[in-house]
Amino acid sequence: MGTKYIFVTGGVVSSLGKGIISASIGKLLQARGYKVTIQKFDPYINIDPGTLNPYEHGECYVTADGMETDLDLGHYERFTGIQATRHNSITTGRIYKTVIDRERHGDYLGKTIQVVPHITDEIKRRMLRGEGQEGVFDFVITEVGGTIGDIESAPFMEAIRQLRWQLGRDAVCVHLTYVPYLKAAGELKTKPTQHSVKELQSMGIQPDILVLRTERHLDDVLRLKVAGFCNVDLECVVQSEDLPSIYEVPVNMQRQGLDAAILRKIGIPVGETPAMKAWNEFLEKQRKTTREVRIGLVGKYDLQDAYKSIRESLNLAGIYNDVKSKIEFINSEEITKKNVAQKLAGLAGIVICPGFGQRGIEGKIIAAEYGRTTDIPTFGICLGMQMMVIEFARNVLKYKDANSSEMDEKTPHNVIDMMEEQKNITQMGGTMRLGAYDCELIEGSRAYEAYGEETLIKERHRHRYEFNNKYQEEFENAGMKCVGINPDADLVEIVEIPEKRWYIGTQFHPEYSSTVLHPHPLFMSFVNACLKS
Ligand code: GLN
Repeated sequence: MGTKYIFVTGGVVSSLGKGIISASIGKLLQARGYKVTIQKFDPYINIDPGTLNPYEHGECYVTADGMETDLDLGHYERFTGIQATRHNSITTGRIYKTVIDRERHGDYLGKTIQVVPHITDEIKRRMLRGEGQEGVFDFVITEVGGTIGDIESAPFMEAIRQLRWQLGRDAVCVHLTYVPYLKAAGELKTKPTQHSVKELQSMGIQPDILVLRTERHLDDVLRLKVAGFCNVDLECVVQSEDLPSIYEVPVNMQRQGLDAAILRKIGIPVGETPAMKAWNEFLEKQRKTTREVRIGLVGKYDLQDAYKSIRESLNLAGIYNDVKSKIEFINSEEITKKNVAQKLAGLAGIVICPGFGQRGIEGKIIAAEYGRTTDIPTFGICLGMQMMVIEFARNVLKYKDANSSEMDEKTPHNVIDMMEEQKNITQMGGTMRLGAYDCELIEGSRAYEAYGEETLIKERHRHRYEFNNKYQEEFENAGMKCVGINPDADLVEIVEIPEKRWYIGTQFHPEYSSTVLHPHPLFMSFVNACLKS
């Protein structure tokens, strides 16, 4: 079977959960034994989301091969367990950069470079995975960010139109829209969907499948109406009702035959519906959990999406520990020595979040101190780990001015310092230590136990600064141990205080590699420790 292509677009409003639908389609096809990849095309001009403020676009997700990407890639990985690569996240900026670099290089032999065909050709090349990956996948699912009608997504729509024509039945267009319920009228309204499909049609794209997001159940009469107005078969009008958990979406889509409809459109025999045993067992566990465990998230972005992968990792680890992780956000900018006990009162565990820059770091340091001195399970991630180290240096080693050179370049006690290789780099994007690196665990440490007594692990990074090895001995003598080391560069990747119940900081981001079927061992162990509070 040659590669088949599925395009996922969205209409009416943003935030309908296109990423979840794309991830669900991926999951369902994977469950049927197909080799799948999911890629996201974002219409903004940034080369990648790495330089975006999380308030703009939520968390930046990092792939194992070191690409800073959109948070939807996190959904793709958590749902399918398939690791994405740098080819799975494309922006308008990257497309233009490729074309402009080629133009400067003289590759176009004097031609006038235009949106059509040069930009659209580059989009098509990437949609077809023309990066030496032809024929690797049975299905390539391409999600296009933004909403139909946006000026900036027009070249992507044109590329899809051309590919549809070129690929014939090997391509399927799935369009996600919204059916609002008007309370005053007591009615569900299909007009926005009709308009959205008209807009798509005006660009030459006829959707094959419609997924209608709705807060209320849609009956067959309404689905028939949508099918009739939009030239779509009734069995291809699928509804995606609000569900208690995003992880219910794949099974709900399967129940409504979304994957079967895709296969039928392409002309592949549908065959038996896969049982998705492990996934359903996970859902069963999730439905049964009632007991709650309160976990504080100490960070500076008061926005659900800003720490998406950490939240999901805590949720997943909770479910596998038979508890609901009740995550409470605490703004580190508001934490002071005076109010910390009250702000963090009653929490079973504390996570100190990653981040960049000064804002809110003193609050993170105070939270780390509180966690250490009251012996509440505490998990520091990246900047969070660095704050644990600074706190320990200030309050235990008594270096009152200890800091990271990120925050105070001249600090005499730079317990966190810039890595040598980063010192001459002035550009912002993509210049960090990014992607997966090896880490050797010290036998007998809590981290080693958490990983099931593995000695060599691989975790993803995104940072410029590091634990300063000059201080290692002093830290260890005073009780904070360096228990995870990068064997190639001798960098400290994990610190812990063994005499505490659970006090671990990781320079890497374990949250990027939690998946639904494989919750991350450190989060599992952390939540487990919280339960014993
Ligand atoms: N700002 C810190 C560094 O660059 C931590 C980064 C992070 O938390 N991702 O090292």
